[in-house]
Amino acid sequence: MTFVTPNASKIVILGDSGVGKTSLALRFTHNEFHDLELSTVGAKCFTKSVHVADKDVHFSIWDTAGQERFQSLAPIYYRNSRAAIIVYDITQKKSFHEAERWVDEMKRHGDEDLVIALIGNKSDLNEYREVKMKVAQEYALKNNLIFLETSAKTGEHVEDLFMKIAEMLPSVH
Ligand code: GDP
Ligand code: MG
Repeated sequence: MTFVTPNASKIVILGDSGVGKTSLALRFTHNEFHDLELSTVGAKCFTKSVHVADKDVHFSIWDTAGQERFQSLAPIYYRNSRAAIIVYDITQKKSFHEAERWVDEMKRHGDEDLVIALIGNKSDLNEYREVKMKVAQEYALKNNLIFLETSAKTGEHVEDLFMKIAEMLPSVH
């Protein structure tokens, strides 16, 4: 039986179009990857529960329906989020600057105890890299963010990302 538990922790995934937001959610919740861009029709919510550090965390992961293309997401979309996953593509410098913009926005408008993770996705495309890991890492350190490079394609560090977030969220009971 699957249902969104009332005490689920809401997680939003933000970032430029094409960076792999939907792919990360799909890899984590269904262990699937698709090579073609997934058109996210309607805001989609993925759910998964994990057990970490002696607690159960129920995630409801909110993926955007492509509104990110228009640069504005209604605050109602990220209201009451416990965590924000802000994704850029390591092969697209522009997407890193967009991620910085999202970090600022979430620091300004998110809940005070919002957990923010900065994620450099597509780590399997290292040969086309435009964003140095060290630059992103230093930015994350300065801003108190979780930082990881992931690949939704190979699965590298995708589980680690959600486990790190789970560790920082309160238990549901
Ligand atoms: P979104 O617009 O941010 O939701 O991005 P999508 O999840 O739709 O992914 C956009 C494109 O990037 C698709 O063609 C995916 O197959 C591809 N993609 C996503 N993640 C990765 C990754 O980790 N590595 C590689 N090589 N391609 C990826
Ligand atoms: Mg998408």
